[in-house]
Amino acid sequence: MPRKTAPRAPVQTAKQPTPRQHRQALAEAQARCAAQGAQLTEQRALVLELLLARDGAGKAYDLLADMRALNPGVAPMTVYRALDFLVEQGLVHKVAATSSFVVCKHGPHPHNDPVFLVCGRCGDATEWDNPALGNQVEQALAGLGLHAHGMEINVDCARCQAQDAQRR
Ligand SMILES: [Zn+2]
Ligand SMILES: [Zn+2]
Repeated sequence: MPRKTAPRAPVQTAKQPTPRQHRQALAEAQARCAAQGAQLTEQRALVLELLLARDGAGKAYDLLADMRALNPGVAPMTVYRALDFLVEQGLVHKVAATSSFVVCKHGPHPHNDPVFLVCGRCGDATEWDNPALGNQVEQALAGLGLHAHGMEINVDCARCQAQDAQRR
């Protein structure tokens, strides 16, 4: 009697097709790197795509795990260097408070580094598109002979505040 073969589990590591909005973001990133004289290689583009797939935010080890799901042999340095490259090109920001990487949604930052609102409770880090504030801080610091590398402001995010209101 022929042995029944168990239904094969779907391959978890197969790369999902890239959604249209991610394809567009990748094409824009490609164009921006080219304009800046840099090359968004396949590996670098893949790390950016994996970050987009995580709703635009993740930690280095999450991305390494995602990369290893596709290519088990990938070296950690490959992922870390790709992240450094994406940060250098202004496509991704590093949020020190949460040691996470966030895809920039506001295009190039010609005059100032990004302003992040970081929730001290849930760790949510949202880029605040506020060039006026960034420039003001930049100018004030210039008066002290200093230079800003971006700002992270501690907040209670709207979601955490709404949860508080529910509890009351
Ligand atoms: Zn940005
Ligand atoms: Zn929060």
